[in-house]
Amino acid sequence: MADIKVPVEPFRIKVVEPIRQVTRRERETLLKQSGFNIFGIPAEKVTIDLLTDSGTSAMSDDQWAGIMSGDESYAGARNFFHLEESVRSIFGFSHVIPTHQGRAAERLLFGSIVKKGDSVPNNIHFDTTRANIEILEARAENMAAAAAYDPDANQPFKGDMDAAKLKKFIDKRGVERIPLVMMTVTNNSGGGQPVSLKNIKETSEVCAHYGIPFFFDACRFAENAFFIKKREKAYAKKSVLEIAQEMFSYADGATMSGKKDALVNIGGFITLDDDALAEKIKNLLIISEGFPTYGGLAGRDLEAMARGLKEGLDEDYLEHRTAQVAYLGGLLDQAGVPVFKPFGGHAVYILADRFLPHIRRAQYPGWALTVALYREFGIRAVEIGGVMFGQKTGKGKEEVYPELEMVRLAIPRRVYTASHLRYVADSLIELHKNRDKVRGLRIVRESPFLRHFTAQLEEI
Ligand SMILES: *Cc1c(COP(=O)(O)O)cnc(C)c1O
Repeated sequence: MADIKVPVEPFRIKVVEPIRQVTRRERETLLKQSGFNIFGIPAEKVTIDLLTDSGTSAMSDDQWAGIMSGDESYAGARNFFHLEESVRSIFGFSHVIPTHQGRAAERLLFGSIVKKGDSVPNNIHFDTTRANIEILEARAENMAAAAAYDPDANQPFKGDMDAAKLKKFIDKRGVERIPLVMMTVTNNSGGGQPVSLKNIKETSEVCAHYGIPFFFDACRFAENAFFIKKREKAYAKKSVLEIAQEMFSYADGATMSGKKDALVNIGGFITLDDDALAEKIKNLLIISEGFPTYGGLAGRDLEAMARGLKEGLDEDYLEHRTAQVAYLGGLLDQAGVPVFKPFGGHAVYILADRFLPHIRRAQYPGWALTVALYREFGIRAVEIGGVMFGQKTGKGKEEVYPELEMVRLAIPRRVYTASHLRYVADSLIELHKNRDKVRGLRIVRESPFLRHFTAQLEEI
């Protein structure tokens, strides 16, 4: 057991937020009231909340100081220029267009260049990029290399695009039907796995060959750059900033949710070089988000993001962040809890169908695990499996389930300490020992889209 190092927090705690104790009985009542759906549980009734790493970061003293220096002028607030400088120094593109979060950036970019019947390839689309493409009646295509779907393939860059498949696809579909290619770093929907610089270069070359714009979905670019430094030999001696700059040098632009690697609770942006496209985006921006120097954000939010972007590249911070994920994953793995490997940048994924082999896919083992984890220990995790992605597309309209049935333990940035993670590991290990007692569920009410948010279930 000695080989799992405790990740020492590279910060001291200056402000605290209490975690309230909740009894098992209270949790039982709340589960019933919520229809056994952890999205319906009030956050104050959660002991450790690993629902998402999005917008849940703890800001630094410097970011909070920046909040106080917000310039709330309608146009040309100084904080916009700070953000512009910060983004340019990392991404290197001339236009910086703020938005209130990542999906707004996607909507504006796709709304400006994607037409009905087009296809947009990506390694694996995140839900919001997929939805923003499909709403335009275009197709979102996943082109990740096969290892992305194999939870046991211990490879360093399971986020990589299958460049040969991409090339074939472009030849078949036709260049004129592909307005852009995207690359998600790290690959969130594929277990938070990184993409190598070699693969970024390859993908960029394919796009350049056909003259197709190449954009990053850059939410976790800093975590991706850190993995490149650690795992791709040629980059071991480069700084994470230099690696990020090189990543973006192969692209035409990026959309970004600041709620991830920019360490803010709200914010996002689009950055690119193309003047004509930037003008189109800004024209759309004014209709839905606001004037181009604030894009739906307050001046103080722009300042927090300008500072957070730089902090997100701090190597002590990134070392700790990835070590936290590896620590939790390592404790579970060592105790025989089935987990997706290798561990990615922002979360540990439990293989729920292996954890609960007595529960059939039709009775949602991943969902059952999230219910048990909350009921017994007050921990909130999210199912990424049959309830989230099941589709009634079988021959007799029966449900077809996604390849992987997982539960994601997302780790908020700078929020929990090693002892919190230890508690999570101990809880899961205990639950694993008593797994026979966990029961499957059936859905009693659901909505036609994104049903996991509101579905009502009952235990079998
Ligand atoms: C979170 C996320 C988005 C969307 O960003 P929001 O700020 O939640 O709108 C897009 N892509 C990826 C990969 C993400 O993780």
